[in-house]
Amino acid sequence: MIDQITIGRIQDTAQIVDVVSDFVTLRRRGVNYVGLCPFHDDRTPSFYVSPSKNICKCFSCGEGGTPVHFMMKHEQLSYYEALKYLARKYNIEVVEKEFTDEEKQAQSDRDSMFILNEYARDFFVRMLHTHPEGKATGLTYFRERGFRDDIVKKFQLGYSPEQRDAFSVEAQKAGYKRDYLLKTGLSSGNDNQPLFDRFRGRVIFPVHTLSGKVVAFGGRILKRAENTGKYVNSPESEIYSKSHELYGIYFARNAIVKQDKCFLVEGYTDVISMHQAGIENVVASSGTALTHGQIRMIHRFSENITVLYDGDSAGIKAALRGIDLLLEDGMNVKVVLLPEGEDPDSFARKQNAEGLHQYIGKSEVDFIRFKTQLLLKEVGDDPVRRAGLISNIVESIALIPKTITRSVYIQESSQLLNMQEQVLIAEINKIRRRNYDKKKDQKDQKDIKPVPPPDWEPDGSPASGTVAGSRMSPKSPYEKYEREILRYIVRYGNRPIYRKFEKRKRKEGKAVIEEDVLVEEGPGVTEFVKFDFDRDNIAFTTGLYRRIFDEAVTYMDDPHFDSGRHFLSHADPEISRLASELISDRYHLSKIHAKILGEDLDDKDSRLLEQNLLNSHVPRATTELKNAYVLQQIREIRDEMKQGNPNDSVSLITRLKQLQEIKKVLSKELGERIVLKY
Ligand code: ATP
Ligand code: MN
Repeated sequence: MIDQITIGRIQDTAQIVDVVSDFVTLRRRGVNYVGLCPFHDDRTPSFYVSPSKNICKCFSCGEGGTPVHFMMKHEQLSYYEALKYLARKYNIEVVEKEFTDEEKQAQSDRDSMFILNEYARDFFVRMLHTHPEGKATGLTYFRERGFRDDIVKKFQLGYSPEQRDAFSVEAQKAGYKRDYLLKTGLSSGNDNQPLFDRFRGRVIFPVHTLSGKVVAFGGRILKRAENTGKYVNSPESEIYSKSHELYGIYFARNAIVKQDKCFLVEGYTDVISMHQAGIENVVASSGTALTHGQIRMIHRFSENITVLYDGDSAGIKAALRGIDLLLEDGMNVKVVLLPEGEDPDSFARKQNAEGLHQYIGKSEVDFIRFKTQLLLKEVGDDPVRRAGLISNIVESIALIPKTITRSVYIQESSQLLNMQEQVLIAEINKIRRRNYDKKKDQKDQKDIKPVPPPDWEPDGSPASGTVAGSRMSPKSPYEKYEREILRYIVRYGNRPIYRKFEKRKRKEGKAVIEEDVLVEEGPGVTEFVKFDFDRDNIAFTTGLYRRIFDEAVTYMDDPHFDSGRHFLSHADPEISRLASELISDRYHLSKIHAKILGEDLDDKDSRLLEQNLLNSHVPRATTELKNAYVLQQIREIRDEMKQGNPNDSVSLITRLKQLQEIKKVLSKELGERIVLKY
């Protein structure tokens, strides 16, 4: 166990930006940093890191916390392990108490499995380099394949001896329990039978997590013509889920960030050979189809992915499969087709680093273009097959989430396919609507639980068939405040709530020109609301509003996002209907504004006025909602006090006092905003 003082020192020293940056690429935004959330399927950055508070938080899924929390969640560590990790990172000496037997017992299974895997890795490495059999067969095998010794060491490659229980016996002698040997899959054996080694007689490729922990192993046979598979891998376990790991990510991470690009190959040896040839930003899917989880891991470091494929027809087929998932996740996908008969491993070994770079640079093509040209060649003049080809390509383009990227592809393929853009656009919109409906159905079935605001039963969703927020059935007492906030979001989306200009003088020839220069810009409307809601842990109680808001949030980083247009032309009729209501709502001048301005404005003027007032009106709208929460809670407490359970009365009074304090602050804020401006 780590003593309390050391824990305190670790907590004080660990810097959240520093800790998170090891796993997520962060960009500065104002006083904070943002990045793609590592804890959910994030396509636009919703993960906020606050250096001043030394915490992180995802605005979308809610995960986050201190550096220790982040490490626990991200690397699936115990509290103890996370502290140890941070202590190592910051060179803090850890004074450990002896474990009591109970504490030993309490150490989780997962910890034990990781520790065992580490032991196994060291064992296999030792066998490769010191055991006569390991040297003669294992090390020789790697050398014959052309792997340099430094690369063999770096990837912690190893060897498991032929003797059927060499490892199992040694591990048990060292005190590792049978249970964990079985759970990690390092050993097998039926009840009470002696254990034997899963990887016996194979060379070993350890599989690392992002932070370098060993979660699994792959073992390759040395000789051909055996009846067993070429590779044996660790089974899925409490610590290993194949679809969430990428071989090589630990070694590739920094290079991916630096190059802002990731290469994707198929196998262990492809990764290793490319490293050896100087290309380090490379990971392998290990022979299975990519999953969203794996893509997400890459996406956090870069949006750009280049897939390397064998140049035979199977390789080409593979190139076409699986890529849709990448497009759907918003990656920019390129393809490199290797010369016939080569895989990345064989090809990299034949080239020096420069030759490999050159070949990639010259043959890398954009995926959609690649697919179009390839299929065009295949179908020739046959009009029926041509139609099939077009819809095939259009399906891929329709998956791309970013409007701008989509339209670039539409333009380009309209030329390649010799089709009118309008026709393609219509087709793509149709597909997107269909996909949207499909997704929505799936979502509905999953019954997503909304985040309830304090003390509020989440029952604001409108009954089906009625327009949400119509004044006819306002289920939530907060609906009208929410609607006002939503109105700003739908109308103004990412428009900054304020812009500050400064007059600057500039010489042009002899003339001195005075011009306004933008010196500061506030957060966008949606971003502001997101921040503000999150700070107080509130959410829209009206289901439809929440859906619109969540969607607006996913576009928060897209400067071209036209919120009004997006929601007006939304595939969900309920959403587009509400959007049109919100957009056509005339801007209601408050009495105060009206008094100051003294007259009725026409629609255009009033809209301009509203834009200029976002800085005071949007915060005001969220404050009003919070005020409504507080009032509601006060009402509830009063009711409770009336019903009078005397045991509770002290705590009720305390709570009431607190609420009244909050109310005071809110009222002051509401008052001040008006006074300040006018
Ligand atoms: P080598 O070049 O030594 O044959 P490789 O890594 O290039 O090995 P591939 O045949 O290209 O292997 O397969 C790609 C990946 O698929 C492998 O790295 C491995 O992760 C996985 N794989 C291949 N064959 C098997 C198998 N029989 N069982 C489980 N996984 C396998
Ligand atoms: Mn290979």
